[in-house]
Amino acid sequence: MTSDPKSRFIELKQQQMQQYLHDTITVPEGLEGNVVVTTLDKIYNWSRKSSMWPLLFGLACCAIEMIATAASRYDLARFGMEVMRPSPRQSDLMIVSGTVTKKMVPAIVRIYNQMAEPRYVLSMGACATGGGPFKEGYNVVSGIDKYIPVDVYVPGCPPTPEALIFGLLKLHEKVERQSIAKVPWYRRDTSEYVPVPRLGPDIFDPRQIQLIKEYTLASARTDGDGAAKRGAARRGEAAAPQELSEKAKARIEQAKARYRAKKQQTA
Ligand code: SF4
Repeated sequence: MTSDPKSRFIELKQQQMQQYLHDTITVPEGLEGNVVVTTLDKIYNWSRKSSMWPLLFGLACCAIEMIATAASRYDLARFGMEVMRPSPRQSDLMIVSGTVTKKMVPAIVRIYNQMAEPRYVLSMGACATGGGPFKEGYNVVSGIDKYIPVDVYVPGCPPTPEALIFGLLKLHEKVERQSIAKVPWYRRDTSEYVPVPRLGPDIFDPRQIQLIKEYTLASARTDGDGAAKRGAARRGEAAAPQELSEKAKARIEQAKARYRAKKQQTA
């Protein structure tokens, strides 16, 4: 008998299980040693984690390490992951490997939305997780988790293949903890659609639209001197919605007229 509480717990559980099996299950003669008794959760999670197909998709230098992980020296086939699918509809795992630029975010979110449940996201490297060396750069977002939910983060610049494999093992552990009775993808209306961000002069997330609107209206009110905007930013809050000035209204009307003219030209 061991003194380690965790080992003791496992030992007791095995004893109980053996007792239970001995009492309730009769294995026909000749089949002893060929029957496995397990739970539905265990077999469901085991089969999912053992055939998790990643999306064929890379963004920057981290992708080279991901490719190296799939090659013969490390070999993702040992996890049943050698089939990298070029279609999001056949993939379970999105490995975001590389620098996420603002231009790329709408495409990534669109692909994420096209993946069927159950789907997982692994953020590989400093860039995908928080912007990395390009953090606060004019064209890079500070982490893909601002747009889509991430399950596992792998640190490093770039993470080694060993680090990626460790991240995959952590993802397997997460999958093993899920229960078929509670997973959201068998319930109605639980699969989350992420609004695709818009890329204009800067990228914006449609979920932040109310905040952006209030902020913009407050800025427009000052007719361009930006005092309200700077004041709200200093206080760390969104400026309250205010009435538009005549000048701002005129600018909006001009923009609408330009849009109508362009639409007529293309019709
Ligand atoms: S984390 Fe480093 S290696 Fe990975 S994409 Fe960014 S700069 Fe390249």
